[in-house]
Amino acid sequence: AFQLEPKAKVSDACASYADLDTLNTKLHPYVRNLANNTDFFSYYRLNLFNKECPFWNDENGLCGNIACAVTTVENQEDVPKIWRAEELSKLEGPKAQHPGRKQQKERKRPLLGELGESVGESCVVEYDDECDDRDYCVPEDESASAKGDYVSLADNPERFTGYAGEGAHQVWEAIYRENCFSKPSNTRGSAAVPGLPAPLPALSQNQAQAALDFKQVMRQHDRQEAIKSGASEEALELEDECLEKRVFYRVISGMHASISTHLCYDYLNQTTGQWGPNLQCYMDRLHEHPERISNLYFNYAFLLRSVGKLRDYVQHYTFCTGDPEQDKQTKDMIKKLAGAIPSGPQIFDESVMFRDQTADGISLKEDFRNRFRNVSRIMDCVGCDKCRLWGKIQTNGFGTALKVLFEFGNGHEGEEKPLLRRTELVALINTLDKVSTALKALEQFRAMAAAAIDGK
Ligand code: FAD
Repeated sequence: AFQLEPKAKVSDACASYADLDTLNTKLHPYVRNLANNTDFFSYYRLNLFNKECPFWNDENGLCGNIACAVTTVENQEDVPKIWRAEELSKLEGPKAQHPGRKQQKERKRPLLGELGESVGESCVVEYDDECDDRDYCVPEDESASAKGDYVSLADNPERFTGYAGEGAHQVWEAIYRENCFSKPSNTRGSAAVPGLPAPLPALSQNQAQAALDFKQVMRQHDRQEAIKSGASEEALELEDECLEKRVFYRVISGMHASISTHLCYDYLNQTTGQWGPNLQCYMDRLHEHPERISNLYFNYAFLLRSVGKLRDYVQHYTFCTGDPEQDKQTKDMIKKLAGAIPSGPQIFDESVMFRDQTADGISLKEDFRNRFRNVSRIMDCVGCDKCRLWGKIQTNGFGTALKVLFEFGNGHEGEEKPLLRRTELVALINTLDKVSTALKALEQFRAMAAAAIDGK
C-alpha cells in the first residue's frame, strides 16, 4: 500500500504529517481539557430524536444495541442554570427574539445591550433552524421552545456501537454522493418525500474550467510522485478534481476516518465484554488505506487553521455558564489554544480556495455550501442515536470551520464577522477534539502494528 512519509506535506495543506503530529502533541491536552472539563464545551443541546430523515424511510436502519443509545440530561439541575428551560424562556421575551436576517446584518452584536450586560448574546442565540446565508450547516435550535435535549458529551463518548450493515452504508453512500458536484445527486430522491431539499443546479462547463488554476499543474507533479510511491488510481482520481471539490471530499472522508479510528480504538470485544483497541479493525479500515489517514491529517490542519482564526473573535465572546469565574477560565483556555496555533497559513491556506469572484466562482461556493448543508441533513437518517449525535456534532463542527475560513474575511479592520452560535463553537471545539484524539490513537495503533510485525 501507498505509505505515508512523515516528512511529506499533507496534500492540499501546508504542513507535513510530522509537523502536525508535533503540533498535536503540544495542543492535544489543551483541546481535551477544553472539550471535557468546561461546562460551556461539554454540553450540547440538539434535536436528536424528533427529526425525520428527509431523504428516505429509515425505519429499517435503526440500531437496537444498547451501545447505540444516548443518555440525555434528564434532570435540569444538571445543566448550568442559564441554559435550563425556564431560564431560556425568560430570556425569550419579545425583546430577545431572534433578530431577522436583515436585523442580524445590521447589528453586529444583537441582543447584548437589550438583555443586560450580564447576559451575553451567546447564551440565548440558538433560536431556530433557519439558516443564515453564510451557514454551511442546518443549525441546531437551542431555544426553550425547540424539541431539544441536553446531552453531556463527556457521558456519551464516541466509540464502537455495532451500527453497521445496509443502513449505515446507505448513509455513507448518500454523503459521498453529495460530492458529485457535476451530476444532480440521486440522494435527493423523488419529489414525493416531504421536506425534500430542492435539487441543486449542476455546474456549467465554464465553472469547471474556471476552477482549474495553477494548482492543477502542481498536482500533476504530486500525482506523478504519488504513483511512484504506489498510490492507487482510485485515490488519485480525486487529483483530477478542482481544489474545492477535492477539499469537500477530503473533509468527508477524513471525518469518516476519524469515526472509524474512534470505533476501532474504543471497541467492544463481544466475546470477553472488554472495551479496548482492536488492531485488526485499524488495519482493515485505516492502515490499508493511507489516503483515508491523509484525509484525517488534512482535517486536523483545516480545523486548526479555523480555531486559530478565532484568536481575536473569542476575546469578545460571552461564555455564559452563569459562573463568571468559570467563564473567565473557559475564555482563557480557548485563547491559549487559539494563540498556540501558528497564525500564518503554515498549516492550511484557505486563501487559495474560492478565489474566482466571477458569477461561476460564486456559484461554486454556493453549491459547496448547499451540498454541505445536505450532508448535515443526511445525519437525521443515521439509525443509531450515539452515531447520529456525533455525526451531527462533527458536521456542525466542519460547517463552522468552513464558515470561519470562508465567511470571516482575512482579519482586515472593519470586516464584519458572522456571529457564531453557541452550538457552532461547541461543535467546532469538540470536532477538533475528536480529530486530535484520533491522531493520538493512530500513533498507538502504529506502535501496536509495528510490535505485532516484530513479534512474528
Ligand atoms: P463503512 O465505514 O460503513 O464504509 C462504507 C464504505 O465507504 C467502505 O466500504 C469504503 O468503500 C468506504 N470508506 C470507508 N471509510 C472511508 C473513508 N475514510 N474515506 C472514503 N471512503 C471510505 N459506528 C460505530 O461503531 N460508532 C460510531 O460512533 C459510528 N458513527 C457513525 C456515524 C455516521 C454518520 C455513520 C453513517 C455511521 C457511523 N457508524 C458508527 C457506523 C460505521 O461508520 C460503519 O458504517 C460500520 O462500522 C460498518 O463499517 P464497514 O466496514 O462496513 O464500512
